[in-house]
Amino acid sequence: MDLYEHQARELFEEHGILVPRAEVTASSKEAREIARRLGGRVVVKAQVKTGGRGKAGGVKLAADPAAAEITARQILGMDIKGHTVGTVMLAQPIEPGAIDTEFYVSYVLDRAAGRFLAIASAEGGMEIEEVAATRPEAVARVPVDPAEGVTSAKAAQIAEAAGLPPQTVDVLVRLWQVLVREDAVLVEVNPLVRTEQGRILALDGKVTLDDNARFRQARWGDEHSAHDDPLEATAAAKGLNYVKLDGEVGIIGNGAGLVMSTLDVVAGCGARPANFLDIGGGASAQIMADGLSVILSDPAVTSVFVNVFGGITACDAVADGIVQALDTVRLTKPLVVRLDGNNAVRGRAILDERAHPLVQQATTMDGAAAKAAELAHAA
Ligand code: GDP
Ligand code: MN
Repeated sequence: MDLYEHQARELFEEHGILVPRAEVTASSKEAREIARRLGGRVVVKAQVKTGGRGKAGGVKLAADPAAAEITARQILGMDIKGHTVGTVMLAQPIEPGAIDTEFYVSYVLDRAAGRFLAIASAEGGMEIEEVAATRPEAVARVPVDPAEGVTSAKAAQIAEAAGLPPQTVDVLVRLWQVLVREDAVLVEVNPLVRTEQGRILALDGKVTLDDNARFRQARWGDEHSAHDDPLEATAAAKGLNYVKLDGEVGIIGNGAGLVMSTLDVVAGCGARPANFLDIGGGASAQIMADGLSVILSDPAVTSVFVNVFGGITACDAVADGIVQALDTVRLTKPLVVRLDGNNAVRGRAILDERAHPLVQQATTMDGAAAKAAELAHAA
């Protein structure tokens, strides 16, 4: 789960990293009040969980409270890479002339290496991917052993590798403490600035929390409210394991392994999965109805593939679930069902008897995937 910049800012502040004074609001009127409290001149910043806000016009300087209100009104509601701006943060600006240098620093989990990676550069401010692509030597990558962490000595090594000044060592240590204590898998500051007076401030922040630790990070909302995709949030509220993808075939299966291979088989048929939903072991009628309604409300879905291998839950129970779901959910897109395993014959008979015009059956996974792909493309 990604945090908003203002939440990252709050964590940095709690761990003793210098940040500009700032407040958040969803109202442009209140923005004016906040600007007044902060001394008049402010930076108005869109709060969206995506980078590149500056380039998109989501970060603007306002000279006084009246300008802050106007600027906040412009930025609120703006679309930045598909994210609608719901709140803005107003921050005391560091005057452009007062910024001596902009740095980039981050810690990111390197799953393949089983370690963390410190990434740092004396060329911050712009997008780090760009710097890494054009001037790779300007970006230092230093592995961090999670058991050892970032001590002052380690921080000094990172700073030296990236060409950062010695004043950043303390920030590098504190940033590591943010990562560890807040259960993050990524912390990033871009830009970290040095002012003319030699103070080091975090002007932007990104923190990604480890979803596995969500139960002890209740402060950022429960797991239902923490989803960025609204359908994922609806599914989570119903206890369903749903993930949104980019394609057009909706996928419902039972068990993570089967669902994963279903994605592969559908892709092998030349179609792209729109999402996947794992209904788990106990596919009751209610779960099937909830699952179908979630999948069908995704406008990108043009066909649905239900792939179930009956084990503990027998196929006739799943078929009963589908039939009952058809009574409560209005089916608007073709549904291909493949039932195999425990009581498959009985399950198929139940669906045949229901004879819904949009429901087709296939006996093999490959056959069903091909059918679902064909229907998705025909739509
Ligand atoms: P991003 O575009 O989403 O990464 O948003 P940032 O918070 O990093 O803001 C974009 C750019 O605006 C930064 O790289 C800074 O150069 C600049 N910026 C942000 N806050 C301030 C500020 O207080 N003073 C000055 N001078 N520049 C700022
Ligand atoms: Mn930034």
